[in-house]
Amino acid sequence: MSIRPILTFPNSILRKRAEPVKKIDDDIMNLIKDMKHTLTEASGVGLAANQVGVLKRVIVISNAPESDIVAYINPEITNRKGKRSVSEGCLSFPGYSGIVTRSISVSARYIDEAGGKIKITASDLLSQALEHEIDHLNGILFLDHLRDHEKLSSVNPEYRPHTHDINVSVKVQDNKNKSEYNKKLYTKVGIDDLKIALERADILKDLEQSND
Ligand SMILES: [Zn+2]
Repeated sequence: MSIRPILTFPNSILRKRAEPVKKIDDDIMNLIKDMKHTLTEASGVGLAANQVGVLKRVIVISNAPESDIVAYINPEITNRKGKRSVSEGCLSFPGYSGIVTRSISVSARYIDEAGGKIKITASDLLSQALEHEIDHLNGILFLDHLRDHEKLSSVNPEYRPHTHDINVSVKVQDNKNKSEYNKKLYTKVGIDDLKIALERADILKDLEQSND
């Protein structure tokens, strides 16, 4: 088991499409072991084989700090639901993050290390990581998903993207039309999303006051 160097942008391998794994042999098992070790050392959420210079359809994701890292062989997204804006970074762009549009939940199928065919539906960080890592296998990078007016922003190298579980519900009363509505803005947000949510809440508050 060894740590493999992580390729960084603009290395051209990051733009190449990875080939499907035909047989889970020793090479693939060693690749998976090394990728898990490399991901742990880098304190990352996910890693695709392209990022260690291997064009095979293998990704590893650490879904929660206390759980094991899971390897997904030949993963494919079969369904996407909803859209949300999330703050995202990538081990191939050390020190940078940006706000991207991702699905609220995804369904995917993959082969596990024992060769079993697995189907899952994921939300939150796992959904985001599956989209991000499967993109890597197709040569797509997170900056391709940056929202129109967004630019990559540099972050403190010690910064680790993290999210908070919060609900921002805004109730707007329209006195003129004697109606009101509730708007749930985000359920799981990064610090950048939180800022946007609070800005939007302010706009709605202004709207409410103008109706008084
Ligand atoms: Zn990445």
